[in-house]
Amino acid sequence: MTRHYNFCAGPAALPTAVLERAQREMLDYQGRGLSVMEMSHRSSEYVAIAERAEADLRELLAVPDNYRVLFTQGGATQQFAAVPMNLLGRGGRANFIETGIWGNKAIKEARHLFGSAHIAASSAENGHVEAPQQADIALSDDAAYLHVTPNETIGGLALDFVPVARRGDGVEVPLVADLSSTILSEPLDVSRFGVIYAGAQKNIGPAGLVLVIVRDDLLDQAVSEMPSLFSYRQLAEAGSMINTPATYSWYLAGLVFDWLKRDVGGLEAMAEINDRKAAKLYEAIDRSDFYSNPIAVRNRSKMNVPFVLADSALDNAFLEEAEAAGLLNLKGHRSVGGMRASLYNAVPESAVDALVAFMGDFEKRRG
Ligand SMILES: *Cc1c(COP(=O)(O)O)cnc(C)c1O
Repeated sequence: MTRHYNFCAGPAALPTAVLERAQREMLDYQGRGLSVMEMSHRSSEYVAIAERAEADLRELLAVPDNYRVLFTQGGATQQFAAVPMNLLGRGGRANFIETGIWGNKAIKEARHLFGSAHIAASSAENGHVEAPQQADIALSDDAAYLHVTPNETIGGLALDFVPVARRGDGVEVPLVADLSSTILSEPLDVSRFGVIYAGAQKNIGPAGLVLVIVRDDLLDQAVSEMPSLFSYRQLAEAGSMINTPATYSWYLAGLVFDWLKRDVGGLEAMAEINDRKAAKLYEAIDRSDFYSNPIAVRNRSKMNVPFVLADSALDNAFLEEAEAAGLLNLKGHRSVGGMRASLYNAVPESAVDALVAFMGDFEKRRG
């Protein structure tokens, strides 16, 4: 059996140790005589799995006690709608820092549901290659919250600071972050945020699960009419089990949290590895005239590294030869083309070494 190196942006690589453990536990979970997939979500075995996953996540991210952790569904995309529905019940307007394709989808959804959204800062003018800074942020007077996409997974643009969301009248409003592609890649000060959400299929586990971390006081700001499954309050009160949750994805996420704690040694250790991985790849890109990355250095994403070849006629050859060399899913997003290497937690440093070696070799032969 060979496991290739997988640079997919999502659903993404999972740690081999996690898959092996899932395999060992597949048919007979810890002597219970059945698979986790076949368990009632109300059973004591399953509730223990779910609670352990939450406890480990809280420990990894040092989530303060006044935050609820929800394990919900519908993708990060559902949160584009759920966030405004949960936070705009007392009026006011959703504000956004616009940095690329995912943030734009969130803006579109807020506009669709509530008629308007205010762009407090944007990198649209520079083609999303350099992100706004704190001084560029101008909230509307009626801002209810500020939504950011700290890492734009498609463009490879990352904010290099955690914004302070202060209106002209001095009131600080909650910061909401779509952390789908960076959560758990480095330590995070959760207390800076009102709501954090992340689709699981990048850095957490299999698709089908979305993590929401929400501050207690924001459970009371929802619009009066919305589907129960969108309601942070109802999800929190039901322990994320209003209905059947994504039980197997939740369990797998728990195995990933356990791997991060025990095998990796926590998020500081993870961040060191991720820093090294990204530095190696950007160095390889920068020292060549054949490969390039358009993003301002301070905004380069450590998780998603887009790059183009000097001659795009070689794109297909690059991808085919990479795949033959066991380097999978390097094709850029269909909307931008070129290449993209996603370097999530489960992508080992040896994968980056192999990619850098392949790139050097390809350039020598074809450049
Ligand atoms: C992948 C991604 C999404 C979309 O996630 P779905 O789970 O497919 O809805 C949203 N935001 C960001 C930043 C992403 O990387």
